[in-house]
Amino acid sequence: MRALHLVDDRKVVAVDIAPPPPPAIGEVTVRVRAVALNHIDVWGWRGMAFAKRKMPLVIGAEASGEVAAIGPGVAGLVPGQLVSIYGARTCGLCRPCREGRDNLCEHVAGVHGFHLDGFAQEEINLPARLLVPAPPGVDEIGAAVAPVTFGTVEHMLFDNAKLEPGETVLVQAGGSGIGTAAIQLAKRIGCTVITTVGSDDKVAKARALGADHVINYREDRFEGVVRKITKKKGVDVVFEHVGADTWAGSMLSLKRGGRLVTCGSTSGVTTSMNLMQLFQQQLRIIGSFGCRMENMANAMQKMATGRVVPVIDTEVDFDTLPKALERMEGRDVFGKIILRVS
Ligand SMILES: [Zn+2]
Repeated sequence: MRALHLVDDRKVVAVDIAPPPPPAIGEVTVRVRAVALNHIDVWGWRGMAFAKRKMPLVIGAEASGEVAAIGPGVAGLVPGQLVSIYGARTCGLCRPCREGRDNLCEHVAGVHGFHLDGFAQEEINLPARLLVPAPPGVDEIGAAVAPVTFGTVEHMLFDNAKLEPGETVLVQAGGSGIGTAAIQLAKRIGCTVITTVGSDDKVAKARALGADHVINYREDRFEGVVRKITKKKGVDVVFEHVGADTWAGSMLSLKRGGRLVTCGSTSGVTTSMNLMQLFQQQLRIIGSFGCRMENMANAMQKMATGRVVPVIDTEVDFDTLPKALERMEGRDVFGKIILRVS
């Protein structure tokens, strides 16, 4: 069967590998249908030194698949069923796992596609407990973007920032995969959404997704525009994932008592911060990492009603995927890049 191996920094190749053995106790063989690319794939491909891993490594951290074979002791799944795959190999036994706080597992073995072999392969054996069935009305693309894209945003906005209807939220990089999800999920509960994008054609696309105000950050200082839009008050919540380039402006965009929630740092992991502003304005900074499996189920329920839709930039195959990573690195993308596997 085919797989995409990361063999060296910036080098991904399509290879033929042996299919998995029959599923063991508690396992399912999943026929992978679609893989969605994320910045974690770009980090891995660029060869960031912080990850312990051995090459070659199958890439792909976010995917959907179809149940192909069921191992002994597995209940609740049937062959042919469409599932969304949780991206980290949690233990399932520790207290956070038992309480449904999967992303805080104390004995996590790693993230697929980053520390462990990922999903850009035709078949993979996985613990059944890490599969979330897709409800009717959700296709393989919706199920593919439920974990890292929509699940992460659900966890950020609702579990962590506790976004309420009627609040104003600034969504950084509204054209990114998680940005397109955040705009829709915030609008869906009746928030006012301000978002930033890096080009004029993305302005129209972000508006079409429902954003109330779209700022081209290459033309205007977004924090100044945000203060103008909010009549100098600032926003209730900032949705951050850009990091170094936007951090200071994001902090300046918050109202007194506002919350900044962040899940990433695509422009760099270190920044400096005005601590006086932090305490005088009583700001709250909340880190958010991945999602809980319940976030995936909730996201797919919302997709099933048609009120939120995955925004797809392009679809690629095994041969054109390496070029797609370069485009993501250059931010020349609106929405998700999808690899169709089978
Ligand atoms: Zn655990």
